[in-house]
Order: sequence, then C-alpha cells, then structure tokens
Amino acid sequence: MALLSVRQLSVAFPAGDRWLPAVQDVSFEIARGETLALVGESGSGKSLTAYALLGLVPRPGRIVGGAILLDDRDLLQVPEVEMQQVRGAKISLIFQEPMSALNPVLTIGSQLVEAMTVHGLGGPNPRATALDLLATVRMDDPPRRFAEYPHQLSGGLRQRALIALALSCRPALVVADEPTTALDVTIQAEILNLLRQLKLEFGLSLLLITHDLGVVAHTADRVAVMYAGRIVEQAPVRQLFRAPAHPYTQALLKAMPGSVHSTHRLESIDGQVPSLRDLPPGCAFAPRCAWQHEACVVAPPELYPVSPVHQSRCVLVRDAAGMPRA
Ligand code: ADP
Ligand code: MG
Repeated sequence: MALLSVRQLSVAFPAGDRWLPAVQDVSFEIARGETLALVGESGSGKSLTAYALLGLVPRPGRIVGGAILLDDRDLLQVPEVEMQQVRGAKISLIFQEPMSALNPVLTIGSQLVEAMTVHGLGGPNPRATALDLLATVRMDDPPRRFAEYPHQLSGGLRQRALIALALSCRPALVVADEPTTALDVTIQAEILNLLRQLKLEFGLSLLLITHDLGVVAHTADRVAVMYAGRIVEQAPVRQLFRAPAHPYTQALLKAMPGSVHSTHRLESIDGQVPSLRDLPPGCAFAPRCAWQHEACVVAPPELYPVSPVHQSRCVLVRDAAGMPRA
C-alpha cells in the first residue's frame, strides 16, 4: 500500500468571475521508502501541489477537488488543528531558500530542540538528540553549529540545518521543493547525496520537486512530469530517460546538457508555458509541440498507458497502440 496517494487534486485561483486551474486532476502515489520527482518548468504547479499536501495553499487559492490520502486518511477532511500535528510529524517540507524557514534570532540548536519539544519528542536529553541530528545530516562540528545562528552558516550548511529540522519529528514523508536550486553545483550534489542517504537510513519517502531533470537522474525512483498544471508523463526514472513518451519530456531531455537525447549543447524549448488565463482547449503543450495534429487541439488528452508503470498524456501513445485515429 502506498504511504501517500494523491487523487485528482485540483487547485484554483479566482480571477474575476472565473477560477483559474493552477493544478488539474493531479494523481500520484508514493510508496514507503520511495522517491518521486515532480519535474516541470516554472509555473507548472509543482509548489502548489506540495503546499496542498501540507494544507498550505496560499490564499485566495483553493483546493477545488480531489483527495490526499496519507496512510489511507484523507488530509483534506482533517481539521486545521490536527493538520498542525500532521505537518512536521508526518510530512515535513524543505524549501529552496532555507533562510525563510529558519528563525534568524534563534540558534540552530534551540530551533531543533523547540521543534522536537512541540511534538513531544527529543527524549530526556533534547540537546543530545539535536546534536545527533546535526551529525545525521553530516554537519561538520555539531556542537559548534548547535550554538550558531542561521546567518553564520553558509548556504549549504543552512540547507543541512533545515534538513535536520525537517527530520526532527521523524516524518514519514519529506517534501523538498527545489532544495538545491539556490546552491552552487558542488553543494547541490552534496545535498542531493545527503537526501539519498537519509532516505535509505530512515526509510523515508521523498517528494523531490525540481525544474532540473539532471537532479532527478540519480536521486529519484520515479518521475512525474508536470506541464501547465497537469501531470503529462509518469514513469520509473530509467524508463523516462531511456524512452520518454511525451513530446514535452522529450523536449526537456533534449534541452538537458549531457543527455543522450541532447542534440544541441543547450537547446531550450521554444515558446512558453501558456497562461492559465488562456489555456488552449486541447493539449496545453500543442502550441509548442513538433508532433501537433488535428486531434491535439480538440480536447485535452487522457493519460494513456505506455506500459503498466508508464503513462503519457499524449494521443501519439494511443495511436501507436493501434487504436483508431481521432
Ligand atoms: P511552480 O512551483 O511549478 O513554479 P507554482 O505551483 O508555484 O508553480 O504555481 C503554478 C501557477 O499557479 C502559477 O504559474 C500561477 O499562475 C498560479 N499561482 C501560484 N500562486 C499564486 C498566487 N498566490 N496567486 C495567483 N496565482 C498563483
Ligand atoms: Mg515552485
């Protein structure tokens, strides 16, 4: 059974007399100990999906449909007081910019102790537990870092401190929203390595959000690709890289430096993600798609099975399977 099962989640923002669909019918599962990467260009709805899991969709946005089952309990039916317990204790969030999540006027140590105490954890010696956590995230010199303030740490160490904080309540699921985007490349690799090791050590489930497919290859078990609020392709990581089935994923892979699909050194995808105000009536990627044909502009395609573990929201898949052409 999956730890987390998101079913047809939809999030919308009001605009005049309409609701703009920022996240549409998003469904995915994450098993215990599994890492799912949610990938897509900026504005595709990744962060809103993450916030929805934690009950933190920013106003005036609203979850307008779907279910979020954690251990078979629908978080969308859980009252806000109980959601406070779920946040941290069951699901915790790591942001792109650790400064915004760390309290600037408290030492790293006191923030860890406070987080554990709030959830009744930390044991008889919270300081020792906090020092252990700092060692767990491979912080150099834990006693020194315990006593330091966030501004005294480098970006990479701050991100480690935030990961320690995220782990302090022993969550089952960690949601990491672009956790390495603000860091330079060497530090990025270190943090991703750390997340991989922690996942194995603690049997954590991880939802790793990124706009960078390069980050995904060595970190994720499965990948869901988002475009304009919808998941357009979902597959185990090797299958996605070896045989991407959606033209958008193919374009992303081509744009990835060093990829086997890469034709140019740094080819970017022409065109832009459509505005939510004027989403095309058919496939949202059709205006940028090299394979576009008549069927694509009529209605949004379904998610078609490429294999039992691989789906693509593209009529090419259906046609390749020998079904009637629209
Ligand atoms: P991503 O994380 O993939 O870059 P987001 O989930 O942050 O994208 O946002 C997806 C889309 O939802 C945005 O492009 C925007 O159209 C809309 N959106 C997000 N936050 C707000 C907001 N506070 N008010 C209005 N629209 C928003
Ligand atoms: Mg985002």
